[in-house]
Amino acid sequence: MTQKFDVVVIGAGPGGYVAAIKAAQLGLKTACIEKYQDKEGKIALGGTCLNVGCIPSKALLDSSWKYYEAKDHFAIHGIEAKGVTMDVPAMIGRKANIVKNLTGGVAGLFKANGVTLLEGHGKLLAGKQVEVTGSDGKTQIVEAENVILASGSKPIDIPPAPVDQDVIVDSTGALEFQSVPKKLGVIGAGVIGLELGSVWARLGAEVTVLEALDKFLPAADEQIAKEALKTFTKQGLKILLGARVTGSDVKKKQVTVNYTDAEGEQKVVFDKLIVAVGRRPVTTDLLASDSGVDMDERGFIFVDDQCATSVPGVYAIGDVVRGAMLAHKASEEGIMVAERIAGHKAQMNYDLIPSVIYTHPEIAWVGKTEQQLKGEGVAVNVGTFPFAASGRAMAANDTGGFVKVIADATTDRVLGVHVIGPSAAELVQQGAIGMEFGTSAEDLGMMVFSHPTLSEALHEAALAVNGHAIHIANRKKR
Ligand code: FAD
Ligand code: AMP
Repeated sequence: MTQKFDVVVIGAGPGGYVAAIKAAQLGLKTACIEKYQDKEGKIALGGTCLNVGCIPSKALLDSSWKYYEAKDHFAIHGIEAKGVTMDVPAMIGRKANIVKNLTGGVAGLFKANGVTLLEGHGKLLAGKQVEVTGSDGKTQIVEAENVILASGSKPIDIPPAPVDQDVIVDSTGALEFQSVPKKLGVIGAGVIGLELGSVWARLGAEVTVLEALDKFLPAADEQIAKEALKTFTKQGLKILLGARVTGSDVKKKQVTVNYTDAEGEQKVVFDKLIVAVGRRPVTTDLLASDSGVDMDERGFIFVDDQCATSVPGVYAIGDVVRGAMLAHKASEEGIMVAERIAGHKAQMNYDLIPSVIYTHPEIAWVGKTEQQLKGEGVAVNVGTFPFAASGRAMAANDTGGFVKVIADATTDRVLGVHVIGPSAAELVQQGAIGMEFGTSAEDLGMMVFSHPTLSEALHEAALAVNGHAIHIANRKKR
């Protein structure tokens, strides 16, 4: 007999699994279909983020940072750490254990919330029927009042550098190196390229990042991007802007990469090459030809602001739809859709999705950049505060970077918070909370911040917006 559900979710990444749990919590009979198998051939939940994305990359970023600190930065604290060595397979093993714990945790949450897991490939048919094909090829059809498509994304391949997961790898392969490559190339100076390049640079690789654009981090505030480029270059990352990769040749476990820059044709040889040129939506065999679901011109599933597709009762969320390819964006869309299915009037604030780059220093922002606001003709006041003037940052010997708060010149409402520096991701979240409640720079300035904390840099930057900072000279006097 055909199984019937109130909600069937295709894909158990941070979009899909969160949507499924929320729907079940709201009393809806819910199933979630997932096909991803781990190395042991078992279905692993959590999608790109838990298996080959956010979590494993942060595990390696943290391990490599500890190594780098122990090797190069303990002496200043009066700690002698001679002969610090690393065990790359052990680092990779630790990362694998964290992934296993978390993906197993999602399976536990499905059980606890009564979400039915259907193992296999899901395909939306006409009339909100969903076909599930198991790894043994057997199919079953389930019926749903509502379907949520959450099939995510995968790395973009470029013909000049075909991935073989040996010498030329994508982000997944770059999380599995068993030793440190001597010379590592990275194509793409986006978030993923910079994070993975940082991991292996900290462990000793000589890293060159080839970026086709002339501008570094075009989505970030220009002041932040400038500081980031300066800092990464000082750390030893060679970032070549205006360098478009045009070809590659793998021979004897090395790859020769051809690229063009302002001077013409160039060549460089690497032991490993990471291709990190972006991600594309996964829609292969997801929709029957008569499903009625429309795609946009770039291959994303077309949705409105509430994630409804062109078919009533069918929704799509996360990386497979327009907008930032971020786990927290996917999850919040999942919550919104589950609530809307349950009859609530949920909305999501797309203007306040924080962006983070987990390099060191971290880079994070929420809201608009100074350039965007000026381009829109909005008059702004800007306050900055350097971590070099923060007692807590000095205590930690981590004084690079600054906090920048941008406020409307007329209303003082905070329109952007941008941070490069220690714990930037956590600091920016404070800005996001304030901005969600319509905070003014003055409001932030009037709040009591614990001393000594890195958060005080946000407090001081907010005060600086109106020329009231205490621990730096104010550029603007009031
Ligand atoms: P996914 O996580 O891609 O999940 C989709 C799931 O659907 C997959 O498990 C897939 O197997 C399954 N699926 C697809 N088609 C079918 C089908 N037909 N039937 C059954 N199952 C199917 N984001 C952040 O916010 N912070 C970070 O720090 C961060 N770091 C990242 C680091 C790396 C190296 C990478 C690659 C990505 C990172 N991201 C990060 C991005 C983040 O992983 C994605 O934005 C997020 O995973 C998107 O969630 P999703 O649920 O839309 O899709
Ligand atoms: P993101 O989309 O943020 O992950 O960043 C990917 C980056 O890769 C972008 O900044 C692109 O400009 C860059 N890129 C894409 N193709 C090439 C190429 N052939 N050579 C160098 N950089 C590239």
